[in-house]
Formats: sequence, C-alpha cells, structure tokens
Amino acid sequence: MDQNKIRNFVIIAHIDHGKSTLADRFLEITKTIPENRMHPQYLDSLELEKEKQITIKLAPVRMQYLYNSEPYTLNLIDTPGHVDFSYEVSRSLAAVEGAVLLVDAVKGIQAQTLAVLEQAQKLKLEIIPVINKIDLPQAETDKRQAELAKLLNVETKEILKISAKTGLGVGELLNKIITNIPAPKIDCSSDFKALIFDSIYNPYQGAIAYVRVFAGEISTNQNIKFLATDTETKVGSVGVFAPDYLEKGKLSAGEIGYLATNIKKTENCQVGDTIALSPIPKNFKKLPGYLEPRPNIFVSLFSEKGESEKLKNALSQLKLNDSSLQFQPEHSSLFGSGFRGGFLGMLHLEIVKLRIEREYHLGIVFTTPSVSYNVLTTQKEILKVNNPDQFPDRSQILEISEPIMEITLLVPNQYLGPVAELLKLQRAKFLTSQNLAEDRSLLTYEIPLSNLIWGFYDQLKTLTSGLGSYNWRFLRYQPANLVKLDFLISGQKFPAFSQIVYQDDLFRLSRAQVAKLKKIIPRQLFEVSIQAVTGAKVIARENIPPLRKDVIAKLYGGDYTRKRKLLEKQKAGKKRMKMAANIKLDKDVFWKFLK
Ligand code: GDP
Ligand code: MG
Repeated sequence: MDQNKIRNFVIIAHIDHGKSTLADRFLEITKTIPENRMHPQYLDSLELEKEKQITIKLAPVRMQYLYNSEPYTLNLIDTPGHVDFSYEVSRSLAAVEGAVLLVDAVKGIQAQTLAVLEQAQKLKLEIIPVINKIDLPQAETDKRQAELAKLLNVETKEILKISAKTGLGVGELLNKIITNIPAPKIDCSSDFKALIFDSIYNPYQGAIAYVRVFAGEISTNQNIKFLATDTETKVGSVGVFAPDYLEKGKLSAGEIGYLATNIKKTENCQVGDTIALSPIPKNFKKLPGYLEPRPNIFVSLFSEKGESEKLKNALSQLKLNDSSLQFQPEHSSLFGSGFRGGFLGMLHLEIVKLRIEREYHLGIVFTTPSVSYNVLTTQKEILKVNNPDQFPDRSQILEISEPIMEITLLVPNQYLGPVAELLKLQRAKFLTSQNLAEDRSLLTYEIPLSNLIWGFYDQLKTLTSGLGSYNWRFLRYQPANLVKLDFLISGQKFPAFSQIVYQDDLFRLSRAQVAKLKKIIPRQLFEVSIQAVTGAKVIARENIPPLRKDVIAKLYGGDYTRKRKLLEKQKAGKKRMKMAANIKLDKDVFWKFLK
C-alpha cells in the first residue's frame, strides 16, 4: 500500500451536530456501502445509540475514493462526543493526522467541542472547519462562521458550509480532506509499533484491538506485547474496517485496522497502550500519552429484585468492552448484596445502567454518587476513600482533600448573571472570561468535583434554556473542611444515608434532611427518633410519634380503673416495642430521600 495515498481523520462534533449524517454521505459518495444496504446513521453501532439517537462512538471505517483519477484510502475513526470520555478522545486524536470540525449552524460550537479542538491543536492535527445544517431556515450561518474563524484565527472563507442532510458541499469537503490533511508520517527507524485507540471484546477472538500502526508491519501469527500491562499474545486475524471486519492478514505503517488478540481480559488491551513485537526489540520507544483508566465518581449498585449474581454477571461482561468501568462486591444492610462501582462521569454511569436494563433485563438502582477523597490519617497515611461509610473515625483524621476540576463554560451573554450565581453556590472560583462572539462568552472556573456531579448539568441547562455548555478536567486535590454526616434512626445507623459534607453546610443540611426523613419514614407502633450526627455529636434531631391504637375506644364512660389498666398495659407494651425497636426501613424510604 502506498502510504502517501492514505488520509486518517476524525470528525469532531457535539452530539446532534450531524456527525452520523455526514458519515452517511461519505459512505455514499465513496460507495463504501452498496446502495441497497445503506440505511441512515449507518455507523452508529451500539443498540443504545440508535435508541437514544445520540452517537457515543461511530464505528471506524475505511473508504476508498478516486481523486484526480488516483485511488485514496480514507480512514475515519471517531471521538466520543462527551466530556466523560475525554481520555479516549485524546487517544483517537493521536491516531490521525486531521480533523473535520463540524459545527451546527443554529447552535454554534459547544464547550466540549472546544475542549476537543484544543487537544487536536496541541497534537498539531490539520483542522478542517465546517458549518453544518446550512439548509435550516433558522441557521445563523454567517454568525457561526465568523465565530469559528475568530476561534481558529483563519479567514471566514476557509470555513466550509455544508448540509450533511442534503449533501450540499460534502463532495468539496471530501476533496479538502485529501488535499489538506497530510499523509501519515512513517517512522522507518523503528520496528512494529501501534497505538490502541479502542478495543472491544469478542467471545470468539478475545479482545480486538483497534490500532493505528506507526512503524513497521504486523501479520497474523506474530507474537506481540502490550507494553502497559506486559501481556504477551499471538495475533489472530488482522484486517481493516470495511466497515465490517475485512481480513487482510497484514497491516503496515500509516494504516488503521484491527488485530484480534485472543486475550480474554480487555484490561490487558487498553486504549492508549502501545503494541510492540515480542520479544521487545532493543531501544524500542513506546508511544506517549498512556494513562491508567481513572474513575471520577463512585456509587453502590444493586439489583432491584436482589439478583446480585445476575448483576455481577452483567457488570463483568460490560467490563470486557469498557475497561474504565470498575466494581467490587459490597454489602448493605438496606439493600443486601451489591457492588461499589467507579465511573468516568454521570453519563458513563447512565449508559452502564441503561445497558444493564436493556441487554440483561435487570432493573438496577444506585446510591448517591461520591467522589474519591484523600484522607490523611493521624498515622500520616493517605487513604483513598470513595464511600462515605468507609471513612475512618473522626479522631483519626488529620485532613481531607477533595478533587478540584477546571470547568470551561460557553454561555450566551444574557445568562451570564444567573450562571455566575449558580457557580458561586457550587463553590466555584472564577478564573477567566473571554468574549467568543458578540453574543457568547467563554468562562473558566475552578470547582470541586463533588459540586459538579449531582444536578449541575440540569441546573445549567435550565438556567440557560439549554444553550449553555461546559467541559471539565481534573486539576488537583485540595484540602477542604469536610465532615462525615451519619443518620441514626431509632439509634441504628443506616450507612446508605451517610454523606460527606462541608462543615459550613452541616447545620443546614442536617436540619433539612432530618425533617425530610421525618416526612418519609412511615409511622410505627413505637416512637422513632431521627438523629443527624457527626462523630458523637448530634447536630439535629426529630421524633416521629407512634401510631396510637385506641385501646379504650370500646369502653364508654364509667370504668375508670379498667381504662387506666388498659392504658398502662399499652404503655408497657410500647416500651417493650421501643426496646426491641429494630426498625426496618423500606428501600423506598431511601429513594425518596435521594430525590
Ligand atoms: P450526531 O449526534 O452528531 O451523530 O448527529 P446526527 O447525524 O444524528 O444528526 C442529528 C440530527 O440533525 C438528525 O435529526 C439529523 O437528521 C439532523 N441533521 C444532520 N445534518 C443536518 C443538516 O445538514 N441539515 C438538517 N436540516 N438536519 C441535519
Ligand atoms: Mg448520530
């Protein structure tokens, strides 16, 4: 294969800006899919994506195209459109030489797209900016074009205007991909070297690594090594994406394709890792940028019907295709057996939940998300704790640190006030602000991750009529004045209710939540006490009076001693009940509490 005739590229776009539709036009123009097999959103491979009508990731595809009577190979791979997956995005970008930056002519560029664009610029990719949906009557094509030109520091005429729907301008875009994006650079001095930009699990062939070859070549039956995990294996099938797997037996430098690895654990075949021949040649240099998967948020997951074996099975299978998913068994007095799971963000969690429900027909519920705290103990140890219930005793804690993120927001100017209010309420610290266009601003803040995960997205969308967008990245751990808040109900601790809160929120939250519990815990035959405590200190308390059975209702008038006897008997009975008051809470109480 002539490497000079290869073009490797991605499409960078926000959800709904038209990536799948544009890919469909590419497939048609290049005749990659025969007309009778073509259907809309062809490369949206996951069931869930089709159903939710969002593209989490397009399947990669190799297309062949004649330009000026010369055959070219175009490899399109995808970047997940969501902030949760920014690491995967960076690895996809590292696998190509160019990017089509696709922006909706109505909505304009979004914060997450900006973040991806920044990464692409850092990697020195050739950027082809495109405004899409210019056929729409409400399109503000000129404004969006000017905005993009300013951002990229190019002339407006550099920015293509297309309609992925009607095909207008798409042929011109394809030509520009060929003329502007450089051919892959080949490292001739190295032995075989490839970057894994994605990996999926196949029950027959093991982990299938999606790779970009940077040097040398690889054939079926050669021995290879995964550098990060030091795993050795023999390569099975080798080929390209047509877009179905098309066996080629060999891949060379510059190409994009797949290697079936026969590995049973995808954890050993991770996005961002380098593959080399085994034994590893002397002076071999691995590719830069590999990171261990690092979950940001943690929740406890339970099967609705207590089917924890089934849940374990589902999680294990999902993990094969999702190495950033982490989980371990956990037991809860309220919910029984379940799992503590780690996720990249709320969307990641939601996708896993939906997939378990759809693909395994298993209803699942999860507890309040928590971030991972660093707890410095009096023994000068640092514990990583992501479950409030597992915090050490208060007397053993010297300091608690929490993860701080940098958040970048794109906000229409008329909403700047309310958005600043929201950020202040969420303990964010202002960093910078910049006018993007006449009507939109780009803001950066520092914000504790714990304030970002629960409800922030919805609040921002509500405040800005859906027009505000944001992106975040990890900055550092920072000491914070945090305490653990527990709830005792009839003296009994229910760990599912425990939470880590800011000291200065402690009274307000304690009072509010105790009052809430009082409303949602059903009355019992005995008096129920509800206490919010931190350490041994009671911060707030409420009592729920007992249901009073009217034991004397049947006695009319007269017999006073009889009445008293009955009342006394009832009192004693109640006392006995209170002593034995092993209160049993329903799971529903917890879900009502969460809302
Ligand atoms: P993705 O989430 O980026 O993959 O976006 P899709 O390709 O699924 O497109 C989102 C919606 O926008 C779909 O309803 C498309 O039909 C529509 N769409 C995409 N491109 C255009 C376009 O050029 N013009 C119009 N009018 N609609 C478009
Ligand atoms: Mg789509």
